[in-house]
Amino acid sequence: MNFRTLLVVLTGMTLALGAVAFSQKPATGAMETAASAPEQPTGKVEKSAEEWKNVLTPEQFRILREAGTEAANGPVYAEFKKQGGGTYYCAGCNAELFSSVEKFDSRCGWPSFYDPSKAENVVSRTDMSGGVMRTEVLCAKCGGHLGHVFTGEGFGTPTDKRYCINGVALKFVPAKEREEAEKK
Ligand code: FE
Repeated sequence: MNFRTLLVVLTGMTLALGAVAFSQKPATGAMETAASAPEQPTGKVEKSAEEWKNVLTPEQFRILREAGTEAANGPVYAEFKKQGGGTYYCAGCNAELFSSVEKFDSRCGWPSFYDPSKAENVVSRTDMSGGVMRTEVLCAKCGGHLGHVFTGEGFGTPTDKRYCINGVALKFVPAKEREEAEKK
């Protein structure tokens, strides 16, 4: 084996080790996107923790199934701010939840909406965790934790509500250009 061959082999081994290390790291938490609207669940979506782990990234599982919270002002928020028109679905069960119509810039570090786009798919309940009373927002179809809703903060929106949602819990489908034009 000459020096060049040895170098190629060593580089290959380093890359392979890097790939293994990378795949074991928890997902950094990009928002899932899809080209077209996913098929809607017809009823409740129930899965065991193991089944959810098979279909969700570790970060999606932590948020949706363990009521976790993604880092504020993270890459998902930057992505959300750049997104144009489109619809946001549950990353767990594909139920339609929000749309760009109700999206607003609250500068809070998490995707914000003033209302769901499909109200029957979004439910809320009192959350006393952390010693403060908040209103938790969940997907009505799969029970996945989405975030919290706050009222009366003075944002100049039609509802004065801020649905503060973890971007990792959402799946974004950009609007087709024609739909965009029709909305204007
Ligand atoms: Fe869901």
